[in-house]
Amino acid sequence: MIKQYYMPTRVLMGEDCVKANSSEFLKMGKKALIVTGKHSAKINGALDDVIDVLSSNGQKWALYDKVMTNPTVESTYEGAAFARSENVDFVIAIGGGSPMDAAKTINLLACQDIPMDKLYDGQYSDEILPMILVPTTAGTGSEVTPYAILTNNRLQTKKSIGSPILFPQIAILDAKYMDNLSKEITINTALDALSHSIEGMLSLRANPITDSIALESIRRISLCFESLKSGRLTRAERFELLYASTLAGMVISNTKTTAVHSMGYSLTYFHDIDHGRANGLVLGEFLKYIEKSWPERVNEILSAMGYGTVNEFIILLDELLGDREKLTDEQIEKYVSITANSSNAKNCRVVLSIEELTEIFKNSVNK
Ligand code: NAP
Ligand code: ZN
Repeated sequence: MIKQYYMPTRVLMGEDCVKANSSEFLKMGKKALIVTGKHSAKINGALDDVIDVLSSNGQKWALYDKVMTNPTVESTYEGAAFARSENVDFVIAIGGGSPMDAAKTINLLACQDIPMDKLYDGQYSDEILPMILVPTTAGTGSEVTPYAILTNNRLQTKKSIGSPILFPQIAILDAKYMDNLSKEITINTALDALSHSIEGMLSLRANPITDSIALESIRRISLCFESLKSGRLTRAERFELLYASTLAGMVISNTKTTAVHSMGYSLTYFHDIDHGRANGLVLGEFLKYIEKSWPERVNEILSAMGYGTVNEFIILLDELLGDREKLTDEQIEKYVSITANSSNAKNCRVVLSIEELTEIFKNSVNK
């Protein structure tokens, strides 16, 4: 397989980065569509900063603040209808992965006529508006990925659309928006980022560039393990996590994810388990099974975290995740079948058998 590294998104970072880069907003056009979730951006200062910049630039904006967590395909069509009616020149997303992914899809659907049953065909033209993404969680890396992950009720899972046209032009990283992020969301999103980098290293598409970035991201997240346990993080640590999650996004932009994400999608779709937590629940056991056929690679990952064995990592996960959800054998059987048929699982250098996937699920929950 020919491997490549591609990253067209410009990343701007640092405190007060939105305001310091008002000229970048000005270059984008006369009117912005701001896409965000229902509450958090109004409280954490990110929406105020963006609106201040647009006002002082004399730019107009329309606010779409209805994005739900784990946005559905249908909800993005509703957002696109709003975007069309507002006749905007560019899109600004503020929030976690849900608003960022919704913004990418809303943008695509506002610019191109794509019937709902053709959305996943990937047959898009180049038409799309420029995008600025301002993440307010440190996990998904969506600010630098060409993916939007949507809840697909027809397929009963979460499924991503992907295209180079979905890469944002600019990502703005300012950890101050995360000062009041709850312990739970901080842990879940950190585990999502960790999962991206680990899965990236196990992907068929991994290459020396993505490996270097993934290892750096894993190291930086690991520096925050102790603070994650307490839920008390300094601004500097929050920046470490934000930077590491953007690095992890650069990794999966090139490598895609593997079976962990596929298993996690079922846990989110059928049990409403948060995306990062869903990955964290299965990540430790998954590594145990990968180690059997690829011990050198798992050792590299563990060393970057400062661990000698997978069990040490599982002890950390137990501490971060607390009581685990309960699943029945029938549920596990169904999710194993979905995972085994997923493109994510086939993207791993080590393809796990039905029996192994079943064991991973069984050992990851009900404890
Ligand atoms: P999220 O669903 O975007 O947000 C989770 C919760 O956190 C929401 O209630 C949100 O509130 C709140 N929140 C966000 N920022 C906050 C802040 N600074 N302070 C306080 N609360 C805040 O969670 P996420 O984990 O970031 O994103 C998960 C989604 O991203 C999933 O759909 C997942 O599949 C997707 N994802 C995408 C990619 C990609 O490459 N595109 C990669 C991995 C995951 P509000 O709703 O009020 O904003
Ligand atoms: Zn993820």
